[in-house]
Amino acid sequence: MKKRVLITGAAGFLGSHLCDRFIKEGYHVIAMDNLITGDLKNLEHLFPNPDFEFYHHDVTKYIHVPGSLDYILHFASPASPIDYLKIPIQTLKVGAMGTHNCLGLAKAKGARILVASTSEVYGDPLIHPQTEEYWGNVNPVGPRGVYDEAKRYMESITMAYHTFHKVETRIIRIFNTYGPRMRLNDGRALPAFIGQALRGENITVFGDGSQTRSFCYVSDLVEGIYRLLLSDYVNPVNIGNPDEISLKDFAEEVLSLTGNAVKIIYKPLPVDDPKQRKPDITKAKAILNWEPKVNRAEGLKDTYNYFKSLPPEEWFKQPK
Ligand code: NAD
Repeated sequence: MKKRVLITGAAGFLGSHLCDRFIKEGYHVIAMDNLITGDLKNLEHLFPNPDFEFYHHDVTKYIHVPGSLDYILHFASPASPIDYLKIPIQTLKVGAMGTHNCLGLAKAKGARILVASTSEVYGDPLIHPQTEEYWGNVNPVGPRGVYDEAKRYMESITMAYHTFHKVETRIIRIFNTYGPRMRLNDGRALPAFIGQALRGENITVFGDGSQTRSFCYVSDLVEGIYRLLLSDYVNPVNIGNPDEISLKDFAEEVLSLTGNAVKIIYKPLPVDDPKQRKPDITKAKAILNWEPKVNRAEGLKDTYNYFKSLPPEEWFKQPK
């Protein structure tokens, strides 16, 4: 019998790549999404597969899945600032009630659950790079607090289910990830820069561009998730690419890749925007024997080619 995995947030960027990976590994995949930020286009190639099912469901409501479950991957949540600032209450609810429902389901089915946490639990970090032992510097009442605190609560309740109900749990702290199936208009730096270049607009950098980010290609992240799920490690693990770059240099890389005659312009920095981000991946290397394989030049080229191949009306689409 095939192992059965439930993936929440399956119609989103990361969830859809996870569906592909688990189908490829020979699992029966049950995908769940309420499509609040996701798109069925990311999954339609899987619909003819008898080992793939899709449930249109909001995970903040009671979750019923018939039959057995071996694994649950809880990825449902708005993930980009443009989304969670627009739907802050839903963001808190999916981190809190959605996670609670998924943990309850894991307990009832005897399934192992992996929850998608984030580097945002470190807030605007005071240590650099961030190790899993760092407790973070989050402003709970700032605009980004709805996402950061939802994810911090998610980690706490996950650990509580592990300690008190003996549920097998895994927590991944994902750092900025990019690749095909991101949305051009999701407000994150990478698709925003590429979208502006494709439309022939100036590239907008917020602040003076000295703030740093580290970008992990999606196939590397998926490999890290897969290894963590199958490991026996319970504490949080950072997965990300430590190759750090300033946003100004990154905007220049996008400019030279696209070859479009546009320039970089600077606008004021949003509130609580982290100044630097870089994962310490010592733990992932030691425990999972994992490290990123795709360098930024390759990953950026693939991602650019994906966006370029979309019908041009997609380049001009407004956020949902
Ligand atoms: P995404 O917006 O592309 O996907 C999220 C999916 O969750 C969407 O399909 C959305 O419709 C679905 N969803 C939201 N609320 C739901 C609900 N109540 N019920 C059912 N489905 C719901 O975002 P993504 O980039 O794929 O992120 C996926 C997960 O990974 C999120 O939990 C996010 O916090 C986490 N994460 C992502 C990154 C990144 O760089 N992409 C970084 C850190 C953490």
